[in-house]
Amino acid sequence: MVFTPPEWVAKLPPIPDHIPIADFVLDERYGRAPLGYSRDPFTCGLTGKTYSALDVVERVDFLSRALANEFDWAPNRGTEWDKVIGVFSLNTIDTLPLAWAVHRLGGLVSPANAAYSVAELTYQLRDAKATSLFTCLPLLKTALEAAAQAGIPRRRVYLLRLPPQIAGDAQPAEFTTVAQLVDRGRSLPRVEKLQWAAGEGSRRTAFLCYSSGTSGLPKGVMISHRNVIANTLQITAFEKDYRDSLRPPGVQSDVTEIALGLLPQSHIYALVVMCHAGPYRGDQVIVLPKFEIESFLAAVQDYRISSLFVVPPIIIAMLRNKKLLEKYNLSSVRSLFSGAAPLGEETARELQEFNPSMIIRQGYGLTETATVVTSTHPTDVLFGSSGVLLPGVEARLVDPEGNEITTLDTPGELIVRSPSVTLGYLHNEKATRETFDKDWMRTGDEIAIRLSPSGNQHVFVVDRIKELIKVKSSSNVLQGHQVAPAELEAHLLTHPFVADCAVIAIPDESAGEVPKAIVSKSSAAGDDDAATIRAIQKHVEDHKARHKWLKGGVRFIDAVPKSPSGKILRRLLRDQEKEARRKA
Ligand code: AMP
Repeated sequence: MVFTPPEWVAKLPPIPDHIPIADFVLDERYGRAPLGYSRDPFTCGLTGKTYSALDVVERVDFLSRALANEFDWAPNRGTEWDKVIGVFSLNTIDTLPLAWAVHRLGGLVSPANAAYSVAELTYQLRDAKATSLFTCLPLLKTALEAAAQAGIPRRRVYLLRLPPQIAGDAQPAEFTTVAQLVDRGRSLPRVEKLQWAAGEGSRRTAFLCYSSGTSGLPKGVMISHRNVIANTLQITAFEKDYRDSLRPPGVQSDVTEIALGLLPQSHIYALVVMCHAGPYRGDQVIVLPKFEIESFLAAVQDYRISSLFVVPPIIIAMLRNKKLLEKYNLSSVRSLFSGAAPLGEETARELQEFNPSMIIRQGYGLTETATVVTSTHPTDVLFGSSGVLLPGVEARLVDPEGNEITTLDTPGELIVRSPSVTLGYLHNEKATRETFDKDWMRTGDEIAIRLSPSGNQHVFVVDRIKELIKVKSSSNVLQGHQVAPAELEAHLLTHPFVADCAVIAIPDESAGEVPKAIVSKSSAAGDDDAATIRAIQKHVEDHKARHKWLKGGVRFIDAVPKSPSGKILRRLLRDQEKEARRKA
């Protein structure tokens, strides 16, 4: 049985597949809000520095000239795989203009999580075959070490500028900044136009974001130009009627929003929803590099933000700081949209009680579906639900034996089809085959479709079937960080005290879930279990990003339970943990 969006959801318009994302987002011929009338697409929430839509067009042009000159790239020579840049930075107002300039040259951008360690960044840069790296001052040390290990020369490391509040005033003169590239581009010749045949935009990778998918190590998800354009159009069509309903009588122009751009631009949620759908609709994105509750609330108040894009840990931080919230005028916020991890029904209700006028919405998506496939419509809110299917999305549910589920309210693995479903994993045909089947994609999430009181089929995320652990970080770099158990298991096996191991998720009040290692000790481990546990935890802390640390602890076991084919029986381990917690 194929589930489709409710009847009243707008239809998806044709999706251009012969142009790079930059042309779609910046050129009025493709339906974007008129350049001269739209709000400034990117404004720094700390300094107030702002780029109008026309500034962005100019910067993309100048940057593409400078990059063509710097790297000897030409739009119609070679493929995107010859022109890969890595971006490892906190959020800046220059990041998207940089990405769009690379796209204009037929290149691709691989954004890396700003929380990454040297080893994790090196892995991504090598895998993506990046030939240059754009970073920011606070991350420069890690960036330089990783660039060296990935064979990127020092002169190919560039700086994106952050506000002085974060990066200080001094910029090391050794590294070229993006602002300098823009200036150089002013006096360089224009680059020729990218000549793409119909369909080329659906084959060419624009962004390479890393995700572990249903199992295994992080893999490069190949996100095409058409994928991003499609999701931008899906979001725009879905919300158009609501936005139109907000238009004051007699006003002709589209209603635009002022949105919060706090979530990491390296993660698909921010990358597509905020950085593409926003500017395309003429919205203004107030860019914040870091989460800190007071600067976040000040930005909402001072910029009169109407649309808040958040993840559940931000909502929890808000609810824990109600006294502080009362000091700020947050009355401009019309809609709050939560995604990337489950937003509990009780949490949503508590927030609604605190702020009755806010429309609290939830979206669901994956890097592999770049991004949103379901969302709450502003006129059809149901707490606990992730909303309804977006225009152009079809869904099937299957039980563990692979049988189609044909009834409502019966959970099964969600399989989706959408023009935003990505091209697959880079250099990994096996994982691609297991996850992508023609246009359909296995999400690894357990979903139930239930009828809402308003009579619509709503999507509820019930559980996660796949190995992936998502740790909600409350540190400065906010997101539901991915932790791939296979990556930690491979790392733990390099420790002399570990004979075999499995990593599973256990619940955690603030982080949602955290990794726990189930370890079968080697003979090298002594009798002092506490010391062995400490040594194993330190082995992770020394080499992996903070969200991968074994906050769930370490438990010893004689033998890790496995299926006859050698697969770790994770569900059994999870059930054992559940039982132990129940007894405790
Ligand atoms: P990522 O590729 O990092 O965005 O992770 C995608 C995964 O995040 C999904 O497969 C889900 O397991 C989880 N996820 C995303 N949105 C939601 C949501 N609204 N509720 C529950 N889980 C979610």
